[in-house]
Amino acid sequence: MKIVGIPTLSDNYTWVILDDDPTIATHAWVVDPGESQTVNQYFQAHDLELAGILITHHHYDHVDGVSDLVETFGKIPVIGNASGPFKGINQAVTDGDHIRIFAEPFKVIETPGHCPEHLSFYHPQALFCGDVLFTGGCGKIWDYPPERMSQSLLTLRNLPDDCSVYCGHEYTYANLRFATLAEPDNITIQARLNEVTQKTLMQQPCVPALLGIEKQTNPFLRFDQFPLKATLTEKGAEANNPASLFATLRAWKDECDAAGILEMNIND
Ligand SMILES: [Zn+2]
Repeated sequence: MKIVGIPTLSDNYTWVILDDDPTIATHAWVVDPGESQTVNQYFQAHDLELAGILITHHHYDHVDGVSDLVETFGKIPVIGNASGPFKGINQAVTDGDHIRIFAEPFKVIETPGHCPEHLSFYHPQALFCGDVLFTGGCGKIWDYPPERMSQSLLTLRNLPDDCSVYCGHEYTYANLRFATLAEPDNITIQARLNEVTQKTLMQQPCVPALLGIEKQTNPFLRFDQFPLKATLTEKGAEANNPASLFATLRAWKDECDAAGILEMNIND
């Protein structure tokens, strides 16, 4: 199994799962095609057939390419949670289901919070987690209860360290900038920010990243641990309430996003 990222829309990734090295692969699946044009171009350039589609959640930037791709490639499985607003799912799955992509086993994990029907797809080497867990951060919770998102993040934290996180967006730089505010004395976070800054300046992807690195540097996997827990408690969170700790952290990040202080200013 090989995985290739296609940048789509402004900052999305559509992931391509190939049955072999891209130069000799004949078939591939895609995860979250938010548009069809760039995906079609990739498949034409590599002479690939689309074998199926995985959908993490219904937002347009994850599903808008599906109908075009199904029209181009014929009847293929479109696997996802059929309880969401997107009606293009033809193979419904739910928490704990096992599916095979080529010969590779994937487990379906329900990860609500960013939206109610969000799924993640877990293979020992790769976690496709859409907009729940991002490299260095996590998705917005809009008006959904923080209990769900905090529980989903803690569920993903239990997965093995050597699994790579393939998320739906490239927000790594801004996320790591926030992580240095959340934990200013964490030298592992500072080292990762330096690395991510270099890659971002060279316009290289910072996704995927190992889950083990995320556990050490992503505040949204660390909100119930010291010293971040103490910082969040000072900001008003209930110390022994994971949802309260998470909600306080998420609100803090939202304030920083709104203030525009996490984006790269190349004049800096
Ligand atoms: Zn989304």
